[in-house]
Amino acid sequence: MGKLFGTDGVRGIVNVDLTPELAMKIGLAAGTFFGEGTRILIGRDVRRGGEMLQKAVIGGLLSAGVKVYDAGLLPTPTLQWAIKHFKFDGGIMITASHNPPKYNGIKVIASDGVEISREDEVKIEEIIFEEKWFRASRFGLAEEVPKFYGIIDAYVNSIVSHVDVEKIRSKNFRVLIDPANSVGALTSPLVAKKLGCKVYTLNGNLDGDFPGREPEPTTETLKETADVARALHVDLAVGHDGDADRAIFVDEKGRIHWGDRSATILCKYFAEKGHKGKVITAVSSSIMIEEVLKPYGLEVIWMKVGSVDISRRMLREENVLCGFEENGGFMYPPHIPVRDGSMTLALMLQVMADENRKLSELFDQLPHYYTLKTKIPMARTTALKVVKEVAEYFKNYRLITIDGVKVLMKDAWVLVRPSGTEPILRIMAEAKDENKLKEIVNTVKNIAEEVLKSK
Ligand code: MG
Repeated sequence: MGKLFGTDGVRGIVNVDLTPELAMKIGLAAGTFFGEGTRILIGRDVRRGGEMLQKAVIGGLLSAGVKVYDAGLLPTPTLQWAIKHFKFDGGIMITASHNPPKYNGIKVIASDGVEISREDEVKIEEIIFEEKWFRASRFGLAEEVPKFYGIIDAYVNSIVSHVDVEKIRSKNFRVLIDPANSVGALTSPLVAKKLGCKVYTLNGNLDGDFPGREPEPTTETLKETADVARALHVDLAVGHDGDADRAIFVDEKGRIHWGDRSATILCKYFAEKGHKGKVITAVSSSIMIEEVLKPYGLEVIWMKVGSVDISRRMLREENVLCGFEENGGFMYPPHIPVRDGSMTLALMLQVMADENRKLSELFDQLPHYYTLKTKIPMARTTALKVVKEVAEYFKNYRLITIDGVKVLMKDAWVLVRPSGTEPILRIMAEAKDENKLKEIVNTVKNIAEEVLKSK
């Protein structure tokens, strides 16, 4: 049985791995899965090949007798919110998120607005590989694919309804938005404008070749954004990925902060406001979140890496406050329990306004950790051996073993896990003491070397 879906939908180099033929089959299988007569909303980001893939997917969906509505260009979370809000039976997003420009991808979304579960992905794969499609009769074929208007306005209104508009407006914030030449340009500037901000954009024109920067917002790709933020004296800058479900923040001093740090600021704010509930995150996030939330008695649930699993867990658990990933994906259930870059921006402005603090001050209030991320090329089976050896070596510490092994020490942690997509071992570590950080990472590297030697 073949596998098409990765951690986040189907991805591939456009017109090489991800062809219109394959896209049509995915549309046909998804249409068979959702069923004849269902209403499906489809949208895309700006990537080259998006139009081609969207038309192919639509062809497949129509063949299965589905009623397709075209949402046009929009961020993934905007489509997800619209599917739930306007009560569609499901949706499809054509996007490769943060991947380099040559990639594109297809995400299948359920009626609750969250990407379909792993089990449902397998069902769609089975339909494709066993060619068990449903073909509608001539009378079951839709006559047209109507455009569905008004989504972005409704979505932006939903976001601002979750924050204190007057309080934020009173601050007259200056905000720089870098949507990486993609669909975040359609929502975040509108959100910030509604919140009374003076809005600047960098890479704000839509361009499927991503001329401004790589679509993944990182400390490397946002260097220019940080320089511009400083030059313009803005209060906050934000960088989105290609489909605007991530938000990485830059403070007024031009410092770029990882998503688990910004999420910790938001969680701490909710806790101080007296909100109760669980916080769900992946093992790749800093343990800082536990340290910060402990005094408020909020529970942190650790999960394996993958935002869909976190979102689905949020729907299953009672009383969830929020969820996040260290890459800038923050999920706020009162709006929709999926990663949403524009919602995250509005929440951060809310904290700055309500706490009357500069963004740099909010980050400086967090505990300080030195961070190190590295990777070692090796086969997955070897990487799993290293994980086992590391777990054995650190067996007297608290271990989280749901995805590789995460060792929690006093004022330090290390995560060792095989990558889900590449033949590499990932090592992430943090410590309050720089020497301790080096010592921990060297210990893990030595264990990995021993395993590689003994092969
Ligand atoms: Mg994304």
